[in-house]
Amino acid sequence: MAVSQQVFLRDAMRRLNLTRDVFAARIGVKRRALDTWLLPEGSQEFRGMPEVVQRFVTEIVENETLLEKYAQNSQRGPLRDRIAIHGKHQLISVDQFTRESVEELVRIADMMQPIARRQKVSRVLEGAVLGNLFFEASTRTRVSFGAAFCRLGGSVCDTTGFTFSSMAKGESIYDTSRVMSGYVDAMVIRHPEQGSVAEFAAATNIPVVNGGDGAGEHPSQALLDLYTILTEFSRLGKLLDGAHIAITGDLKYGRTVHSLMKMLALYKGLTFTLISPPGLEMPADIIEQVALRGNHVIEQSNSMTSIKGADVIYATRVQKERFSDEQLEGYSADFQINKALLDQYGKEDVIIMHPLPRDSRDDAHDLSIDLNHDPRLAIFRQADNGIPVRMAIFAVLLGVENLVQHSMRDVTWSPPSHIGPEDAVFHGMY
Ligand code: ASP
Repeated sequence: MAVSQQVFLRDAMRRLNLTRDVFAARIGVKRRALDTWLLPEGSQEFRGMPEVVQRFVTEIVENETLLEKYAQNSQRGPLRDRIAIHGKHQLISVDQFTRESVEELVRIADMMQPIARRQKVSRVLEGAVLGNLFFEASTRTRVSFGAAFCRLGGSVCDTTGFTFSSMAKGESIYDTSRVMSGYVDAMVIRHPEQGSVAEFAAATNIPVVNGGDGAGEHPSQALLDLYTILTEFSRLGKLLDGAHIAITGDLKYGRTVHSLMKMLALYKGLTFTLISPPGLEMPADIIEQVALRGNHVIEQSNSMTSIKGADVIYATRVQKERFSDEQLEGYSADFQINKALLDQYGKEDVIIMHPLPRDSRDDAHDLSIDLNHDPRLAIFRQADNGIPVRMAIFAVLLGVENLVQHSMRDVTWSPPSHIGPEDAVFHGMY
């Protein structure tokens, strides 16, 4: 097999749009057996899938349009050309994706997992240099983009904040972008003004990735959020089509939820419940764009009791740094997502997500730490997914995605089997 067993099976289920239970029944095996084939190679309960099953799955998928889809893809060229913006290999907005292209990126991210989990190494980006330009606060996005580039064999040069950049001396976006293009092979840019990353991108022909432009978009976060939902749903035996997604918090300034809602709208028949304090509602243009896309139900609410029935609760932080004349002092205690609220209104198999950081100060009433031991809390698995997804973004934009699988070698050091102290609780979940 050209890809790992896990990537092969997950891809087959996504293409056939089948839950694990239905897929297991379709290929005539027990769900338990399928679960063991879907575990990461090297994990204790992992089992190799018999070759006859592999052939059978391939045949079913081929019969169900796989060949047709692959043929279309090869006629239409590589993924980076299909998601290009103004003819350039850049990632500025989730509007660049179709459902088909986003699922192709998800498959590439799956392929990156052995590297992200420190079982394998690859050097496909050897010699390439990434410029990480962050003019606004960041921990996850900056470090995970950097780590993702390094894990593919590249190197990273960082600059953080305005104070230590020439923008403090009045340099324009055009000049900064053009100058950086002479030094690096790709750039990730975060900037406090909406539209600014597109301006950087217009001034260069090298790949540019939007790491967050003010209250605008955060496309790589939306991709890793979608990847998380698909992965968690696969484990829970759910499909994204028809799911109920509750999005809570500062929906006005939260760029992650702007990108996420547009990206999820590529799927069919979703119910979106948008819960925010008055004055921080989702911008009307995004609601209109999503409403135009298909048969989605969009409800708006100011009460957390509306999380009832949701398959995903996506919480966000109040983006105080973007407030102009708003007076809101954090959420009231009613806006906190905590164990008591979940026990009363949450489904047993709901997943709780948050782009992080969560504001842990007492008056913030952000996502509570009293859920830290609850397996429904997916926030750290979600943050971990930033690595394979951002590796996939670079591999696609730099055109090396087809080289990765054969470039993998075993790691020479021994990473811990669980990277976080609580992770053992979740062992074997995938
Ligand atoms: N880290 C996310 C962002 O940069 C979410 C947040 O800051 O609240 O948009």
